[in-house]
Formats: sequence, structure tokens, C-alpha cells
Amino acid sequence: MAVKIKNVMEDIVIDRIDSIMEKAGCCRCDQCQSDVAAYVLSKLKPKYVSTVSGELYSKSVQLDTNVKNEMVLLIAEAVQTVMQKPRH
Ligand SMILES: [Zn+2]
Repeated sequence: MAVKIKNVMEDIVIDRIDSIMEKAGCCRCDQCQSDVAAYVLSKLKPKYVSTVSGELYSKSVQLDTNVKNEMVLLIAEAVQTVMQKPRH
């Protein structure tokens, strides 16, 4: 029996970073996008669900305003960090 869990914040963050990175004029290669996502997801409180319903759940999840604000701040912080020291 395998434990199937998923942090739904992953999908939500990955969904958001592209447009924010574009607006910031940040490089959007795989490495930079992955670095931004890793930075944000390491600091943001995860929200785990079991994946049987997790894939669908992540599309409809409603985040608290506090969580949304924190996520936007962390993405901005991550983009600045990656732009200063890109690893590509
Ligand atoms: Zn890059």
C-alpha cells in the first residue's frame, strides 16, 4: 500500500509564478522557475491532501486572504533572489 499525498500549494504556486516572473522581467527558464517555486514552497505552510481527490481539489481550493498575501510576498521575494543570483 502506498501513501499518496500531495501538497496542493505546489500547483497553486507553480500556476502563479509564471505571470509574476514575466511582469518582473525575470528569466523564465526551467531552472529559474524551479528555483522560485522551491524557494516559495520551502517557506510557505504546505497544505496536504490525499491524492485520490488531490488533483481535483487543488483546482478548486480556496485560500485564506492571509495565505494568499503571504504567497504573493514570498513569490516577489523569490523572484528578486533568483534575479540577483540566477543559477542557469
Ligand atoms: Zn533562467
